[in-house]
Amino acid sequence: MDLGLQGRRAIVCAASKGLGAACATALAREGVLVTITGRTIETLEATARAIAQETGIDVGIAAGDIATEAGRVAAFAACPEPDILVNNAGGPPPGDFRDWERADWLRALDANMLAPIAMIKGAVDGMIGRRFGRIVNITSASVKSPIPQLGMSNGARAGLTGFVGGLARQVARHNVTINNLLPGPFVTDRLRTTMAASANQAGRSIEAEIAARAEQNPTGRFGDPEEFGRACAFLCSASAGYIVGQNILLDGGAFNATMG
Ligand code: NAP
Repeated sequence: MDLGLQGRRAIVCAASKGLGAACATALAREGVLVTITGRTIETLEATARAIAQETGIDVGIAAGDIATEAGRVAAFAACPEPDILVNNAGGPPPGDFRDWERADWLRALDANMLAPIAMIKGAVDGMIGRRFGRIVNITSASVKSPIPQLGMSNGARAGLTGFVGGLARQVARHNVTINNLLPGPFVTDRLRTTMAASANQAGRSIEAEIAARAEQNPTGRFGDPEEFGRACAFLCSASAGYIVGQNILLDGGAFNATMG
């Protein structure tokens, strides 16, 4: 299937590893000129090189923290007129809300709510003018089914979801779509880190812990970031203009409901 994306330009935030990198790779395979962001320059350069080697796309990089103004300025300097924007950032730490101060909440809100909104603000009017835009926010299955120890993630991502639910309907007539992809468990560095504590408690390796937990998923496995990247590329495709303001769960059916 031709996604109709050849020559389009994309900013994929927080894309030197994991789900962001998988989205950037899938877009580059479709001929999209991707710019990826991340805080660690070495990882960013290595990922850009790997994508370029595989796809032949000259991948742009913008080093910086996307939760800061400077990080976002760098992203738009590297790709001033994106047709596609994939919003992503690291998730907030787990914990007990009694221990969180205002500064902790502001960090979570900055990374997982206000940064994507600022990126949308910087990109959306150009997209409207060019009559093509695809915005995908990587949020979390926790938006649908809150994870008790990830209260800051539950809260900040729900805020973003509420905001874009309204905005998506305001820009859709210009062929600009905004949708959210909600990952359940995908095997990335982040997942390995979050599994480390329970693996330790159970006295087994992280791989054994992942295998045991994955067994409980209806698919009997955890997700492969490649699958996530492909779903993202489809949402960005020319044919996806009628998919508007949706929250699409990619969790192997872990969220148990008759309807979504
Ligand atoms: P990951 O493997 O840890 O990768 C995160 C990537 O984002 C890295 O490239 C990291 O590079 C970059 N990054 C993190 N914070 C950044 C920032 N503030 N500015 C710029 N770049 C940043 O994580 P992942 O598993 O792909 O997760 C991506 C998002 O999906 C996270 O918000 C996570 O909470 C959410 N999620 C993941 C899962 C899962 O199972 N994997 C499930 C639900 C939700 P640097 O550290 O060098 O910046």
